[in-house]
Amino acid sequence: MEFGIRILGSSSALPTLKRNLPSQVLTFNKKPFLIDCGEGTQLQIRRQGISFNKIDHIFISHLHGDHFFGLFGMISTMNLLGRNKPLHIFSPSGLEEIIKGVFNKTRTDIQYNINYHTISTKEADDILETKWLKVTSLPLNHSKPVCGFLFQEKQQQPNVIKEYIEKYNLSISDIVNIKSGNDLLLSSGKIITNSELVKPKPKPRSYAYFTDTKFVAEQYFSIKGVDVLYHEATFAEEDKQLAHTTGHSTAMEAASAALETDAKLLIIGHFSSRYKTHNHILEEAKKVFKNTISAEDGNYIEITHY
Ligand SMILES: [Zn+2]
Repeated sequence: MEFGIRILGSSSALPTLKRNLPSQVLTFNKKPFLIDCGEGTQLQIRRQGISFNKIDHIFISHLHGDHFFGLFGMISTMNLLGRNKPLHIFSPSGLEEIIKGVFNKTRTDIQYNINYHTISTKEADDILETKWLKVTSLPLNHSKPVCGFLFQEKQQQPNVIKEYIEKYNLSISDIVNIKSGNDLLLSSGKIITNSELVKPKPKPRSYAYFTDTKFVAEQYFSIKGVDVLYHEATFAEEDKQLAHTTGHSTAMEAASAALETDAKLLIIGHFSSRYKTHNHILEEAKKVFKNTISAEDGNYIEITHY
């Protein structure tokens, strides 16, 4: 089943001609989930051919403008396109008041329901569960209350091996029982163990989105074993001091986070616009964690079975 990340914006604070403000679309089984929504996100969504109407869930990490100022235009666009189903927005507290304030003052009548879900920035919380995915918010460390997000594929039930269905003439209820982990008791009294009867599904995949944040070793315990980690690398090592005073990380710290979590792949992004190119930032990260790539606007990264 398809599980991947489309980078919509990889800059921080200021957009540049190459990099938009923070936003990503996570797609699982053709269903898009929007993560952060900097100004310009709706244009990036259009460029990528993603349908606005398929987006039902938006996760906002924190209330710095570069992570959510795109919401006003996008909510308005969804309205003009005739949306009539609810939109769920998950964020730290304060967003509902801001959005309602803007639309009230400008007398913009939004015709669909927006359900605001306030998430804790003090403790981890399971904030959404679908048939396929579980989403957990995790407190990070920044100059404003902020959450990271962990997206975990749910373990799916195994398939019963076809030849056994025929061999033992299994009924639907037999198959349901076996898929749930039970052994099969034959009328002769013989027991066929569950592990013989099923083909297990692969290990569930996971993706963590960590921005904006300082490097604090303890915050990575909860995502130990994550497959793919997106971590901000706003600054190069030469600006380490600045990273710390502004509540951000350097590329080497992002790479240390990948080591802490045993991630299989690290994606770095949220680059400061002070650097004309970002190759040196990628190289710094790779010195610590080899399997690092840099987020590039428009790129799609598949979360594979590692
Ligand atoms: Zn921020």
